[in-house]
Amino acid sequence: MTTNPAHRLAGRSALITGGARGQGAAHAQRLAAEGAAVLIGDVLDEAGEKTAASLQSDGLDVSYLHLDVSDPASWRAAHDLVEERFGQLDILVNNAGIIHVTEIGDETLEAWNHLLGVNLTGAFLGLRTMLPLLRKGTNSSVVNTSSIFGPSGAIGYSAYAASKSGLLGLTRTAALELAPDGIRVNALVPGGVSTPLNELEPEGGVVPETPLGRRANADELAAAVAFLVSDDASFVTGTELVVDGGFRTR
Ligand code: NAD
Repeated sequence: MTTNPAHRLAGRSALITGGARGQGAAHAQRLAAEGAAVLIGDVLDEAGEKTAASLQSDGLDVSYLHLDVSDPASWRAAHDLVEERFGQLDILVNNAGIIHVTEIGDETLEAWNHLLGVNLTGAFLGLRTMLPLLRKGTNSSVVNTSSIFGPSGAIGYSAYAASKSGLLGLTRTAALELAPDGIRVNALVPGGVSTPLNELEPEGGVVPETPLGRRANADELAAAVAFLVSDDASFVTGTELVVDGGFRTR
């Protein structure tokens, strides 16, 4: 029996971190439109509730929960809620992220640790905490959102690039460790995307270095995530899906 491609994720449960806005909200919309029951976790409670309500009004199964990815207790509460609601977790998208621009000589340990705590430790905590529920899931899969600044580096972005590069190592290692459980783990590597994260970036950010000459829309990243977490990617694990308008070909 073939599956309707529009419903690739029917019956699946998903948790998307940083889902109140930007790419996380687009992922929630796309995964729910493909049939998943989606929880979005974020620290922006008002925006998160608003996003969930707006997607619900379109008939999509999306709910909001407060989740600070840098806090193990917050992850524990998310685990308990997912367990109560779904009994398992099929899809985890570690998308939450923050950014700041400071050259190394001026970087403070506090700012460095804060960024790494959200972007890198947050994904580790998510994986570790949700692992028992992912092991119970159906064709479970995890996506960690890296960045073109992970593999490439960029002036002023030492903490951000280190966190995004670290996510690639975490992704590869998790893919190896979890393959025997049938859990796939991949990294999404976006180039410039139009979201609140980079709206203060000078001169259009990486657009001048992007062959396609523009930033992506969040929907273009959501399409890539939907592929990675679907059974269409059943033999894809430990890899990086680069969605960057050609940035890395330069
Ligand atoms: P965004 O700022 O719109 O979204 C990030 C979300 O993460 C926000 O809703 C924010 O509240 C949430 N968040 C921050 N700290 C959190 C925490 N401690 N716990 C839970 N949620 C938290 O930006 P975006 O572009 O949608 O970013 C999504 C991901 O994509 C990030 O990991 C970012 O680093 C990555 N990325 C973005 C770009 C880009 O150009 N926008 C490029 C490459 C990678």
